[in-house]
Amino acid sequence: MSTLEIRDLQVAVEDKQILRGVNLTVKAGETHAIMGPNGSGKSTLAYAVAGHPKYTITGGQVLLDGVDILELSVDERARAGLFLAMQYPVEVPGVSVSNFLRSAVTAARGEAPKLREFAKDLKAGMDALSIDASFAQRNLNEGFSGGEKKRHEILQMELLKPKIAVLDETDSGLDVDALRVVSEGVNRFRASGETGVLLITHYTRILRYVKPDFVHVFAGGRIVEEGGPELADKLEAEGYEAYTKASA
Ligand code: ADP
Ligand code: MG
Ligand code: MG
Repeated sequence: MSTLEIRDLQVAVEDKQILRGVNLTVKAGETHAIMGPNGSGKSTLAYAVAGHPKYTITGGQVLLDGVDILELSVDERARAGLFLAMQYPVEVPGVSVSNFLRSAVTAARGEAPKLREFAKDLKAGMDALSIDASFAQRNLNEGFSGGEKKRHEILQMELLKPKIAVLDETDSGLDVDALRVVSEGVNRFRASGETGVLLITHYTRILRYVKPDFVHVFAGGRIVEEGGPELADKLEAEGYEAYTKASA
């Protein structure tokens, strides 16, 4: 069973300090939601954990099963069992969804999956997410709708079977049907109890479908309040105003 431990993490972007000491532990089988106003640093946390070069670690540690992943390359992080779905996935011209996913699985496992086995897993994953078969041959992210990007993100997660998954704004830009399909995907994925999920969101609506075990409120680059799922209901009713004032 895996544990992701973020210890006093401090991150700067272009000499501007954004994260000011984040502490958070996510264990396999747990779903944590990070919620907070725009600009509070939620995506910065995801990018820093992912190893995006623009985000400079100025202090703290991120441990996956005791290993400091901040020392690892992006591929090594994936191989260690970390999955990071980014808020704005890039377009890769000339690379099909199918080829991209096979390379991603290869990078995460350290060896290529057998073609037949991969094709079978891909089809099962696409069926479960109500993705049309023709999608696999399309170019990665080229002309994808918001819903297609998110479905692709969840498909990728299901194929990679990470120990810990970090999903940033998985619910943004989704209509209700797509939100339901994506939420079911996350729920199916976490049902094994072997994966920890960190769901980062500005909105409370995905939390109606994916019930978190823990909710953390982010403001001014740190966690300012923590609680159970009832905290999400409180935020839905009252918004973030109380926190933005306190951290300003
Ligand atoms: P959230 O995801 O909570 O909306 P972000 O992490 O995106 O917050 O942003 C937090 C702060 O960091 C904002 O003030 C934003 O302008 C700044 N920031 C984030 N990423 C970058 C970047 N790549 N370049 C410059 N500033 C950035
Ligand atoms: Mg934002
Ligand atoms: Mg964000």
